[in-house]
Amino acid sequence: MEQLPATDILKQSVQYLKGVGPRRAVALERLGVKRVSDLLHHFPRDWQDRRQPTDLTRPLVDTLIVARGRVTRVEHFQAGPRMAIYKATVATATGKLPVLWFKHGSRRYDVFEALKRDVVRGCDLWVVGRSEPGLLGAHEVHAEEYYLEDDPRAAIHVGRIVPVYSLTEGITQRFLRELIHTVLADRAAQLPEYLPGRFLEERRLLAYGQALRAVHFPAAFPERDAARSRLAYEEFLLLELAWFLKRRQTKELSKGFGYEIRKTLLTPFRGQLGFELTRAQIRVINEIFDDLRRPSPMTRLLQGDVGSGKTVVALSALLLAVENGFQGAFMAPTEILADQHLATMKGFLRDLPVRLAMLTSRLKAKEREQTLAAVRRGEVDILVGTHALLEEDVRFPRLRLAVIDEQHRFGVRQRATLRQKSSILDLLIMTATPIPRTLALALYGDLDVSTLDEMPPGKTTARTVRAGEEEALDFLKKEVAVGHQAYIVYPIIDESSRLDLLSAKQEFERLRAGPLAGLNVALIHGAMPGKQKTRVMREFAAGAWQVLVATPVIEVGIDVHNATVMVIQNADRFGMASLHQLRGRIGRSRLESICFLVAEARTPQAQKRLETLVASSDGFRIGEEDLKLRGPGEFIGTAQHGELALKVADIFRDAALLSAARQDAQWALAEDPRLLSRENAGLRERLLSLYQKEWGWVDLA
Ligand code: ADP
Ligand code: MG
Repeated sequence: MEQLPATDILKQSVQYLKGVGPRRAVALERLGVKRVSDLLHHFPRDWQDRRQPTDLTRPLVDTLIVARGRVTRVEHFQAGPRMAIYKATVATATGKLPVLWFKHGSRRYDVFEALKRDVVRGCDLWVVGRSEPGLLGAHEVHAEEYYLEDDPRAAIHVGRIVPVYSLTEGITQRFLRELIHTVLADRAAQLPEYLPGRFLEERRLLAYGQALRAVHFPAAFPERDAARSRLAYEEFLLLELAWFLKRRQTKELSKGFGYEIRKTLLTPFRGQLGFELTRAQIRVINEIFDDLRRPSPMTRLLQGDVGSGKTVVALSALLLAVENGFQGAFMAPTEILADQHLATMKGFLRDLPVRLAMLTSRLKAKEREQTLAAVRRGEVDILVGTHALLEEDVRFPRLRLAVIDEQHRFGVRQRATLRQKSSILDLLIMTATPIPRTLALALYGDLDVSTLDEMPPGKTTARTVRAGEEEALDFLKKEVAVGHQAYIVYPIIDESSRLDLLSAKQEFERLRAGPLAGLNVALIHGAMPGKQKTRVMREFAAGAWQVLVATPVIEVGIDVHNATVMVIQNADRFGMASLHQLRGRIGRSRLESICFLVAEARTPQAQKRLETLVASSDGFRIGEEDLKLRGPGEFIGTAQHGELALKVADIFRDAALLSAARQDAQWALAEDPRLLSRENAGLRERLLSLYQKEWGWVDLA
């Protein structure tokens, strides 16, 4: 390694580290490791305690064995047509141990060559491997790594707590461990600290170099935990700074236009709704209107459980825009839902002079062109659609308000993109998966939050029970016989191979031919052409079908009041949020409704998930439980989780650090709004490199 200043070495490509070279550099890149700093931030996925050799007098079933001793005997033999074994007997302080290496297949070159050279009678070595029941009843060790006692590198791998990394083809555990160890040994002491010293003191955190060394090669587990805390704090601090800055940026923007509450549309709209708004709806509409009338653009999250009446709230906001001569956009996650929203809006807005149009990717080129032209000419007041609304050529001359429904389908990054596209846009984002507070801080730090915490009257919540298929279908048939309708839902088994389609389709055939023979049964799944999906959905809503067999395409938003039964097959394969959404499709009127979860809960977690759903209909509770059971990565989708640049930090486990970091971020910015002081220089640099270059999130100019 060339002697560069420590800051510069962090930026250097790993290719130039000793032992890497171009081929391994390519492999490392697959792990996200390009520069030396990436390498040091490739944190272990686990640690093994190899400080002491394993006591062989203890029971050794299925455990990691670390043995240290002298080889007293070696043999190698063919154990079958395609397997050879190299066996060494190692005499250790606590007993003799047979150690085995395997060679599979009939490779031409001799993979035992190194063993024959190294592991010979009389040599002293360390062996690490798994203990397996031996052929003769005694245990034996299947070797994973070995180190000769006189190998100077042995001390990196044994006699200490050892990191275990995620790997990729062409990169071995041993190689990576030695590479990181070398960089740390040469440089850790000089690595620059970029967090302000007072934060470190206040929060009692390790220095950067110290933390990096200890997270990879801790002397003891408490040291590792301290290192992890420091690194988690740092990730949170940077994230919260990014959010605060982003939020401040938005607040500093000026829309350059104002809203006036004219009520030319709002009053007749409310008059013809056919119901009174709930108090929660009125409160939230006021929060939104206050926001809209501020000079800076709104970025507001509206959370409210399934059925809490978000659509009417969104529509009120859109009407305020239209009253003021502006255009609005309403974006739904699926075509079915976009379709349904359009129909709902048409109903609520009947006889009012509001021009609605729809844009999805299924429109034919000509229809699309016509719609776009009308939008461009300002002849559309509210455009409803899917992600197709985000496409380049969709241009609204007077777009001021965009509503995004069911935000949990929508990544942090997409949100940022949207905001960048139009800095004067007011954004209302709606979700029915309430987000626990800790998570909201981390995920939606740039948003203001409104909550609908009251359900409209006249709804029954669907009762949820666990049942066998037969029992569920019997009940279903009775309900259908009295004129109600039912859903039967199958999980997506494998999106990529389209197996979901196969299973719902096959099941559809089976049910139609067997248990549900004689009933009007329709099928709907995600891979069907959009037109067909819409048709089936409309027919079902109109009562033409008694039973709808579906994949989770019907998960969000579908609103058919006459549906009173839902049977969810393989319910253990769904996430809790999905199950909660799904059952929200029934119980949408005064009709008593019931949701059957048909499942074998194979794991205690699955068991817990289903129990929670049976016990509670409160979306907030379910959100919390879900987060506890699955961790944030799965809860919000791994892709989104990755977007947050949180590698060690765990939103749930490290909740206390998160709020500490949030406070510190706030202080730092209050004192030094653009992070220009010397003390904040390192912070500023990290922040820009993490969130600005790749994301365009923060601007410290
Ligand atoms: P979600 O919040 O899940 O999107 P919706 O907006 O689809 O809920 O509303 C669910 C149902 O409740 C719809 O049929 C809607 O018309 C109805 N609804 C909304 N607000 C009220 C209210 N204040 N009183 C009675 N029904 C309402
Ligand atoms: Mg909805």
